[in-house]
Amino acid sequence: MLVVRTRAELRAALATVPRPVGLVPTMGWLHAGHVSLVERARGDSATVVVSIFVNPRQFGQREDFAKYPRNEARDLEACEAAGVDIVFAPTVDEVYPPGFDTVVSVGAIAGPLEGAARPGHFDGVATVVAILFALVGAERAYFGAKDYQQVQVIRRMALDLALPTDVVTMPTVREGDGLALSSRNARLSPEGRAAAPVIHRALEAGTALVSGGEREAAAVRQAIFRVLGSEPRVTPEYVSVADPDTLAELDRLDGRALLSLAAFIDGVRLIDNERAGG
Ligand code: AMP
Repeated sequence: MLVVRTRAELRAALATVPRPVGLVPTMGWLHAGHVSLVERARGDSATVVVSIFVNPRQFGQREDFAKYPRNEARDLEACEAAGVDIVFAPTVDEVYPPGFDTVVSVGAIAGPLEGAARPGHFDGVATVVAILFALVGAERAYFGAKDYQQVQVIRRMALDLALPTDVVTMPTVREGDGLALSSRNARLSPEGRAAAPVIHRALEAGTALVSGGEREAAAVRQAIFRVLGSEPRVTPEYVSVADPDTLAELDRLDGRALLSLAAFIDGVRLIDNERAGG
């Protein structure tokens, strides 16, 4: 496994590798969710590239960039064990060289939910992913459904900008108690960790209602809020029942829906989502 830190080293390393190339962009603190993406990439590709970069541009001013967990040595071991060929672990200046002055800004699909809760977040995501796509030139890149809107934003960008990398989405990997794996889980206190599965339970209560025939989106949102409210440590930020293609909030559920939420536990912001209605 080769670890490269500069744009030039990455390009040089990629010049001679067998194709197709699969790219897995990450912010590190790797867990089984990331590994599931790497395994899929391994199955599809002759060369697997993982990027490890905590991207400052996708964090708001009052967000947790400084507190985001980091452990490169452990991440490199995980990559080695998962059969990664090249790790790209650049500095901030290497990704955004002096004078860097471009923003990739995706439109409507980046507006609601995470886009509304975290202004500028998706500009940061789209910009760094565009750079990674350009640098790696992978045939495919792999993303997790846990960050559902992120995948929608990246798909839109890749289509609009004619980027030659296909976007592949993989299912959310969960702990046994339903909590979606997330690097941020490492920052929960034991009590917060014990409370956190309520997020998935709340979404499941929502999907169960829809399966049972509920058609009023407001009733589904209420049910999700009610379950979240059973845990005093949990502070919901938003609960959404939206069209999975446009992410517009629904009044009536007549087809498929995306149930999603963001909530704080111990000051740690967690997100999750479930599909409902087939
Ligand atoms: P991150 O390091 O959190 O930016 O995540 C890097 C990639 O891993 C993104 O495409 C995430 O959607 C994906 N990912 C994060 N958590 C999970 C999970 N629990 N299951 C599957 N994919 C995940």
